[in-house]
Order: sequence, then structure tokens, then C-alpha cells
Amino acid sequence: MLALAGIPLDLRFVFVDPTKASPAGQLAPQIVADYDDDAALLELASRVDVVTYEFENVPALAASLLEGKRPLHPNSRALGVSQDRLFEKQTFQKLGIPTAPFAAVDDDSSLKSAVATLGLPSILKTRRFGYDGKGQRVLRSDVDVENTFGSLGSAPCILEGFVPFEREVSLIAVRALDGTIAFYPLVENHHRDGILRLTLAPAPHLSAELQGAAEAFGRKLLEHLDYVGVVTIEFFCVGGKLVANEFAPRVHNSGHWSIEGAVTSQFENHLRAITGLPLGSTEIRGAVVMYNLVGALPERKDVLDVADAHLHLYGKESRPGRKVGHLTVLSVDAKEREQKMALLTPRLVASGAYPAETG
Ligand code: AMP
Repeated sequence: MLALAGIPLDLRFVFVDPTKASPAGQLAPQIVADYDDDAALLELASRVDVVTYEFENVPALAASLLEGKRPLHPNSRALGVSQDRLFEKQTFQKLGIPTAPFAAVDDDSSLKSAVATLGLPSILKTRRFGYDGKGQRVLRSDVDVENTFGSLGSAPCILEGFVPFEREVSLIAVRALDGTIAFYPLVENHHRDGILRLTLAPAPHLSAELQGAAEAFGRKLLEHLDYVGVVTIEFFCVGGKLVANEFAPRVHNSGHWSIEGAVTSQFENHLRAITGLPLGSTEIRGAVVMYNLVGALPERKDVLDVADAHLHLYGKESRPGRKVGHLTVLSVDAKEREQKMALLTPRLVASGAYPAETG
């Protein structure tokens, strides 16, 4: 999606991806290698002017190796903070951005004392390498407390107090090389089994106050990290206030709607930022819904008869739980968005690409 946005700007790409014939490799040369393959990274650096990534588990060592050769955006510090849930929460806390209460857990006894402080229910998460709800367990009882640390591989963890949120929202922001910052409107995200399934842009209950609060938090984070490019901050909405959960140092699935739904997409704005171009308008075109197509695909004809529906198929083999495409639908307002969703949701459910219910 970055290449699709950049090719019209005459940007040329080289991708590193360990999977042969990856979706990106359909659009530009691909170096098939692991992210810790130094020779491959050096080859990449020799072929490009600037390096970016859209996967936050790129090893920190790979990032610092590349950073020594070419400008790397976002920088390796931002990547490092985002890769460790403890550093991430400590950074939010230092910047005055509200989070769930949390404590570091390194063994069974620190888990017990963290539970004594934070209470139950709470959530134990591995500090590193968690995504799409993996590497985490909700602790509801003393039995859970006994068994869970080992079941997560006895890896360093963080315990978080359970946030009784009303909804989940995310903020996509972009900071240019000259420090200019632009924000997309807050969007509402619905998950199922830890996987994003639906994004509503703008978020249905969005107020100027909530947007303002999110932007103030986003600005603090971007400036603190001397960040260049797109960042995504995920928040819980509770009692009309925002509680930050995590940030992703990259373009994000909850911003895919912006390809057709915003004047400038998150992908184009990321590329503009890292290549020193002026940012484009983040204004939204009406009311937008983005469905993730997971594990199966609908027939193209079953969705494209809806006005302003845009289908993106990633050319990946369908497997249960795998994101294989998305569908973005534009409407003039939230009412029309609801009408279009009433038509499309049952069709997507029938195709197996979308669950009957989301959280
Ligand atoms: P994460 O991997 O941190 O994005 O968590 C995955 C999902 O688990 C989130 O989207 C929430 O639905 C839920 N979750 C994570 N942390 C908390 C928390 N502290 N309180 C309540 N729910 C949470």
C-alpha cells in the first residue's frame, strides 16, 4: 500500500521481506531475507536513499545498523520504545498521557505483588512480540494468577489493570521532517479475537474535546521521540476520557480507510513525511467504514454494487485468522454509512470474511 501511494509521486521502492513473492514484491524489487540478515540490510541500504518499515517487530539491531547507513524514519528510539510494553507505558506516563495502571512482572512473586496492587481482573501481557491479542491473558481469579506467567513462556511481562472501556479508538498522526504535524480524525475500532475487524471514521461519538485531547497527547509523543512519519496511538474511551493503550510506529490497519476516505492517505502522508515533502490534507471525505476481510473473501460482485465501495485484495492465500483484504465504503454522513452497512454486513458474514458479531 505504501508502494501504491508512492509510485505516482515517482518514488521507487526496494522491499525486504522474508516471504517469497510477498504482496509488496508484486510492485517493486524484493530482497527475500530475514530482518536480521546483515548482508541483506546492507544491500538494502546501498540501493535506497531513505529507509522505513511497516512492521514493528523489525529487530532493534537491524534498525540501528540501517540508521548508521541511511536516514531511518521513524527512528530506532521510537521503534525500541514501541517494542516494549513497559517502556511504552513508562513513556506515556512521563509525558502525562493517561494509561491503565501497570507494573513490571519478571517472575511468579512479582506477579503476585502486582496483582495485590492492581487487583483482579487484570491483564498480563508479554513485554515484547505481542500482536493481534497474542501473548496476553486476562487474569480473573487466583487460579489464573497461579498458572499464567508460565503459560506465556515465563517471558518478561507487564500487568495492566483492566480498563472497563466503552469503546476503542485510534489516532493516526503524521510528523514531517520540518516538525509540522497533521492529525486524522479519531476512528472507532471493533475487534474479534484480538484482530481488528471494523473501523468507523470518524468515530461515531467524536467530540471536538476528545479529538483535541487525542491531538495534544499525539503531539507530545511525536515531539518527545523526534518522530518522522505516521504514528498510530490506540486509546480506550472510558467515561468520556482517553486512556492510551499502545502506539504503533507505522502506518496502521485502522488507517486503511484513508486511501479513499481522506484527501491524502496515511500511506502517501507517511512517504511525504520521510522524503521531506509537504504533508497533504488529512480531511475526511464524509463518513467511512472499513471492513477487514479475514480468512475468506467475498465475491467481488457481491460488494462492488454498493456505491463508493472500494475493494482491496492483498493477493495472499486465505487462512483462518489471516487478513487477506479490506473493503472501504464512503458515505455522505453517518446515517448513510449505517444504511450501507446494513446491506453489506450480512453479505460479508455469509462469505465467511466477517464475523456475525464483533466486540
Ligand atoms: P493490545 O495487544 O494491547 O492491543 O490488546 C488487545 C486488546 O485487548 C485490546 O484491543 C483491548 O480490547 C484488550 N485490552 C488490552 N489491554 C486492556 C486493558 N488494560 N483493559 C481492558 N482491555 C484491554
